[in-house]
Amino acid sequence: MPDTITTRYSPLVPQDMLDEIFLKDAREPEDARLWVPNGPGRWSRPLCLNVSQGYWVHLVKVTVGGVVSRHRHPAPVHGFVLEGRWRYLERDWVATAGSYLFEPPGDVHTLVVDDGDSMITLFHNTGALLYCDEQGKTVGSTDVFDRVAAARKHYEAVGLGADYVKRFIR
Ligand code: FE
Repeated sequence: MPDTITTRYSPLVPQDMLDEIFLKDAREPEDARLWVPNGPGRWSRPLCLNVSQGYWVHLVKVTVGGVVSRHRHPAPVHGFVLEGRWRYLERDWVATAGSYLFEPPGDVHTLVVDDGDSMITLFHNTGALLYCDEQGKTVGSTDVFDRVAAARKHYEAVGLGADYVKRFIR
């Protein structure tokens, strides 16, 4: 007998499986407090903060033009642009809605949003992001644990509670 749309396979799920994350309003949350501030005109909306494998998936929103960051990636990044436009100083292309990007380990670049532009981009970052000065010297870093800490602090400050971040942690 063929499967029907009503067939449910829940009994087959292994008991040690982690909870899924489903965010119906990921791009435009009803509650704007979900956007974690990350500098003037910059926000990060956590989608999956994966402390067990050391990566994070988030939406980056930039609403003010300027240099967002110069950084090196010791591990790969995937990006998908949802709206707006941005570029890397080191590249000829401009990322716009619908653009996909793979940033290989070792890549160093300077993310810029030009004056008058804005953007929302989904990034899947693995490991860490190393901030660099103009000579390429590492001057700071961020990893999934920093992202968890920043979200926890923000959610507590805006009244959602420090534990709100836990729904994004796996
Ligand atoms: Fe990058």
